Amino acid sequence: MFQPVNSKVSFPEIERKILELWRTNRIFEKSIEARSSSPKYIFYEGPPTANGNPGIHHVLSRVFKDVIPRYKTMKGFCVPRKAGWDTHGLPVELEVEKQLGFTGKAQIESYGVAKFNALCRESVFKYLKQWDSLTERIAFWVDIDHPYVTLDNSYIESCWWAIKQLWDKGLIYQGYKVTPHCPRCGTSLSSHEVALGYKDDTVDPSVYIKFRIKALPAEMADEKSPGFSLSKAVSEGKAYFLAWTTTPWTLPGNTSLALAAADDYAVIECQGDFLVFATALMEQVGLGDSPVLKNCKGSQLAGSLYVPLFNPHEFNVERKRARAGQQGQFDIQESDPDLTYRVITADFVSMEDGTGIVHIAPAFGEVDFLAGLERNLDFVQPVDLAGNMTGTYSFSGKFVKEADPEVLADLDKRGLLYKSGKITHTYPFCWRCDAPLVYYAKKTWYIRTSAKKDEMIAGNRQINWYPEHIKEGRFGDWLQNNVDWAFSRERYWGTPLNIWNCQSCNHFECLGGLDEIKAKKGLKGFSGDMDLHRPYVDDISYDCPECGGKMARQNEVIDCWFDSGAMPFAQWHYPFENAGKFKESFPADYICEAVDQTRGWFYSLHAISTLVFGEPCYKNVICLGHILDAQGEKMSKTRGNVVDPWTVLDSSGADALRWYMFTSGPPGNVRRMSPDMVVEVMRNFLMTLWNTYSFFVIYANIDNFVPDTKPVSLTSELDKWLMSRLNQLVLEVDELLDNYDPTSAGRKIESFVSDLSNWYVRRSRRRFWKSQNDDDKLSAYNCLYQTLVTLSKLLAPFIPFVAEEMYQNLVRNVDSKASESVHLVSFPVADRDLIDTAIIEDTELAMKVCSMGRAARSKSAVKVRQPLPRVVVKARSAHERGALKNLCSQILDELNVKDIEFTSEELKEDKGMSVAVEGDYQVGVVTEISPELLQEGLAREIVRRIQTMRRAAGLEIADHITTNYLGNDQVDSVMAAFADYIQQETLSAVLLKGIPSEAAHTEKFRLSGIEVTLAISKQAP
Ligand SMILES: [Zn+2]
Ligand SMILES: [Zn+2]
Repeated sequence: MFQPVNSKVSFPEIERKILELWRTNRIFEKSIEARSSSPKYIFYEGPPTANGNPGIHHVLSRVFKDVIPRYKTMKGFCVPRKAGWDTHGLPVELEVEKQLGFTGKAQIESYGVAKFNALCRESVFKYLKQWDSLTERIAFWVDIDHPYVTLDNSYIESCWWAIKQLWDKGLIYQGYKVTPHCPRCGTSLSSHEVALGYKDDTVDPSVYIKFRIKALPAEMADEKSPGFSLSKAVSEGKAYFLAWTTTPWTLPGNTSLALAAADDYAVIECQGDFLVFATALMEQVGLGDSPVLKNCKGSQLAGSLYVPLFNPHEFNVERKRARAGQQGQFDIQESDPDLTYRVITADFVSMEDGTGIVHIAPAFGEVDFLAGLERNLDFVQPVDLAGNMTGTYSFSGKFVKEADPEVLADLDKRGLLYKSGKITHTYPFCWRCDAPLVYYAKKTWYIRTSAKKDEMIAGNRQINWYPEHIKEGRFGDWLQNNVDWAFSRERYWGTPLNIWNCQSCNHFECLGGLDEIKAKKGLKGFSGDMDLHRPYVDDISYDCPECGGKMARQNEVIDCWFDSGAMPFAQWHYPFENAGKFKESFPADYICEAVDQTRGWFYSLHAISTLVFGEPCYKNVICLGHILDAQGEKMSKTRGNVVDPWTVLDSSGADALRWYMFTSGPPGNVRRMSPDMVVEVMRNFLMTLWNTYSFFVIYANIDNFVPDTKPVSLTSELDKWLMSRLNQLVLEVDELLDNYDPTSAGRKIESFVSDLSNWYVRRSRRRFWKSQNDDDKLSAYNCLYQTLVTLSKLLAPFIPFVAEEMYQNLVRNVDSKASESVHLVSFPVADRDLIDTAIIEDTELAMKVCSMGRAARSKSAVKVRQPLPRVVVKARSAHERGALKNLCSQILDELNVKDIEFTSEELKEDKGMSVAVEGDYQVGVVTEISPELLQEGLAREIVRRIQTMRRAAGLEIADHITTNYLGNDQVDSVMAAFADYIQQETLSAVLLKGIPSEAAHTEKFRLSGIEVTLAISKQAP
């Protein structure tokens, strides 16, 4: 006997019961232990940060991370799954800063780095419990008891080892470059971090600025042309270069203007002044109608001198110039009250927008900086690392963006602002704190990833991306445009940068582990069990091997993306221990995260692995799209449309949520979701599956069915079809999962379950219902049983709870020697001999004809239970007609018609026939109803009413009843003519005319205009 199955199921309740079963019997652990000697399948967990509550998007990635390892386990692999936690970096520091009410680094320094970092350490596990319980609840099987944690000393030491590897290969350098800098966080960001924070609807000033020309190049100054003279205008102080910018705060740092050598520049009069700018852009500047007083090439104007907008010396800001050949070394220039700057030509000047004259501020922008080095331009930096204006300007002390209007007001007062407006464009913001980034020339440590670009690209060719377009698209492009990885951070909570520097002779050393540090002469501030974080490591110093001076640590920490990218080896504290474990788990067979990680974890893993080991560290990636709300809007707290995973889990359950995630769209697509959409999945798929399962158990128990492991001899076409379909499904699902396509696999199962319920079970109902236990009935039971058991195994990776529930009842309950969990069994293997593709195709055609026939019937408004004389089918070929003839009993039964007829004529819709058309197929039902058919229809209606009454009376399916009836003559003759049929269908032992007064359940109906009274009562057994 199987345990009774309630058709009114609560999935969350079942899931809680199953969780308990797994916990008590250590099923997850056993699923790995049992396969300890099997080949390994390696999964890397991309570590989340537990300093916030896990959200619905975490459920998405976690269930996709889960499905493949479960499948591979069932395929015979040993799949260890180590959890991990990302614990360092800006995200963590910012949370603590928020908590302390800090707005910048100065406050951290005065609060104390030790205390600050202690809070960071605490905060990273603030939501650990929530993470762990959600992880368990959604059945993401991962070893949360032995996670790798990036803040552990052992983890840090492994990162140090890797950095040392790169150092020894010459892949680490300190560059003086323009780097994207977050003024609020006070640190540089890497290009992949910048890529995370672009906003394309940023409103900024769009301003045209006048730079007063002081002198023209000699050839131009000597001009002796009649009419307008530019040199005269210059000498009168009325000639200006016109330049355009969206960042007015950079103007105090301007030290040059760049023109395009080969393009034309016009001189135009405007309110008594003479403006010089590109002829091609007159329209855009708003002076398209003005007469051109003079035309010259950009090259002719190169070497012109102009007056600085802000002479730095007047505002107590240094003017410097790069020392040739020495990166990062600058010579301070002497004060000059008559300072002028020089006009240059450059090939980056575009005629697309602006004025064709580019304002150059070498302190703020890579192009400007490089132009500055190349042309030996002055370098003026009037902004500090917190993004505030320095010096004694009227806007000093202001944050750059706040300084913008004041810079413009100042220029306007002096007549140097030609025009100002607004522009909406794309601008990068800090991915963590949302502050606008500034590009800032400063010293930063780099990993020379660009030197290994070709290797990274070659390695990417070996990786299978799902969806495939990521490989050459998002990820491939990212590698193609690779720039060196700015990986030092001027911050506090992170893996400290393991580079020391001599205070006397500027010698640098990178130390790759604790033993290397211990071996240093004159070592101070070190102990074997010290916390390897700041501020403690800041005290480690030793004697310079070159000059005996003091070696002090560079006080930066490293990019936390380096930490997570180092997990393949750092999770094992490799190479200091666990060399074997590392080797057997490198590279990973499978990783999975959302698409934004192409520039995050996917990249840092790939870069570090390529640079350290010379090969990629993962083979297959499922790259997930983002989750939006039901309307396609981004979920956000402010919009109030965030879906709380717990709400969904408590109402629909984890399996419904998982199934939704897997099947609602391909993994790479953007996914809309709302709790209602999950409810839909539960109703459509899970309930169909459950009802079929429940149907089987109810009838099997009535008939005391005992599952037989012997192969069934298939005599019924329906059974042959089911076994064909099932084995074909096994093949397909296996292949799709093997190809990392859980979505298509899930959809195949979904359509199978629908066919199972709507075709096989419906068509076989009478076989289960009939009283004699013959071979046909047994075959039906065996087929349905095998199908449900196989489904539980196929579904185990997707919906582990319902799969387990079905397995426990159908298998474990009747066979104590069976595996104790569906997650410990092998994945089903298809029996190819049972696959008869012809029968699958033929049945598909019959199903199509039935569905068209039903459509035709419902158009005609004849009741479903009213038998009709004939269905007429126009099929495509004689072969198809033959197939339909073979299956005609099923079609007749399904459509409730008496006969089938084939035609090659077009079918016409008329009073006697209702027609449905689909492509080449036409199906018509003849709607003429004879008195005999009408009687039969009435009999069927009566059967249905009695069945409904049985349910309402709470009778068991196998209970026998007495049925009483009362109606007109027609009712009497129906009850007589169809007595056998009615009795059999309703388990009525007798049909009696007349309603006894004591009848328990009586109901009155109008059927086809005839009044009928029915009464039922349970027979004594
Ligand atoms: Zn920031
Ligand atoms: Zn030295």
